[in-house]
Amino acid sequence: MNVTHLECSLTNEHYAAGEIHNLSRAGKPLIVRYDLDRAREKLTRDAIGQRPAGMWKWREILPHDGDPVSLGEGETPLIALPRTGGANLLVKDEGRLPTGSFKARGLAMAVTMARQFGIARIAMPTNGNAGAALAAYGARAGIETIVICPAETPAINVTETAAFGARVYVADGQIDECGALVGKGAAQGLWFDCSTLKEPYRLEGKKVMGLELAEQLGWTLPDAIFYPTGGGTGLIGMWKAFDELEALGLIGAERPRMYAVQAEGCAPIVRAFERGEEFAERWEGAATVATGIRVPKAVGDFLILRAVRDSGGAAIAVPEDAILQSVEDVARDDGFLLCPEGGAVVAAWRQARDQGLVRSDERVVLFNCANGNKYPLPDRSKRLTLAEAEVGAL
Ligand SMILES: *Cc1c(COP(=O)(O)O)cnc(C)c1O
Repeated sequence: MNVTHLECSLTNEHYAAGEIHNLSRAGKPLIVRYDLDRAREKLTRDAIGQRPAGMWKWREILPHDGDPVSLGEGETPLIALPRTGGANLLVKDEGRLPTGSFKARGLAMAVTMARQFGIARIAMPTNGNAGAALAAYGARAGIETIVICPAETPAINVTETAAFGARVYVADGQIDECGALVGKGAAQGLWFDCSTLKEPYRLEGKKVMGLELAEQLGWTLPDAIFYPTGGGTGLIGMWKAFDELEALGLIGAERPRMYAVQAEGCAPIVRAFERGEEFAERWEGAATVATGIRVPKAVGDFLILRAVRDSGGAAIAVPEDAILQSVEDVARDDGFLLCPEGGAVVAAWRQARDQGLVRSDERVVLFNCANGNKYPLPDRSKRLTLAEAEVGAL
């Protein structure tokens, strides 16, 4: 077993590995710790380079013991956006993972652990992509899955989740309110709560983004990372990954500036960042087209804020029209269809560049966390009657 123990992210209280856990006694996320000295012997640059690509090659610093529950999680490419920002502006395209989003990374890991612990039923609240991934991996593992979504969840996610055989409910509230209901069922022993950061292993799946990035950039890190922040699992996970890579001797002490991107219609982390607060108050009346980052209250708020501040980065909110404009611009200019959350990231990068927070000669990695085709797009086609069509006028 690689895991030595788990640790409360607020109090550092230790918890035993090999037992089922949700939050710590302090009500905060639990962080998985490994025997990094042992991992260091096997996880060398050479060994990593020789293994088949994908998240499971990092097995010495992942929590599972046996075979993973897998749907073929590949390594996601870094794609330059030369017309949008020049050769140094890269997108890590997480939309190429199973179920079309990076939620696959976290839930492949969480469901692998749920199976290892013999859990028979799993549940979560979701704005869409997480529910679809939970349902897919649940089906793969033969674990019953229950998913509760807010009313504005994109239809494709709701139907996709149901296609995997999950029981899906569309509810009249925000994701944290759906989460309260999931928590109630978990407390009654009806199912295991897989909510982001209330379950310790999703973070470990998501941290692989940071591991992969370091290897892809030749064991260096970019100058800045822009991350669409809802629950913040990926940002917190990458920040943890960088520390583990340093402890393994694979990178040095350098770190990217971390930029947490939110929409102006739901920006609790940005508000807390600007006020200098350690925790973020709930955002009332949350609304944005970028549903993956519509999270009014994040249980890991202080971990996001800590990483952003320690890195010398910032939390940035962007307006709705800039999100949609960025999706449109990048598709036309660089042939890359971002998801709306990815549009928010490009809009934030543009804002940061205009404010002088990032320079154009810096290497910047933007995260696009779902396939743009999963979201509704404006129909700009024209109708055509074939018998009357003038080919020269098309
Ligand atoms: C879930 C989601 C996010 C937010 O991810 P967190 O790590 O929970 O902050 C961003 N973009 C998309 C497309 C998502 O599905």
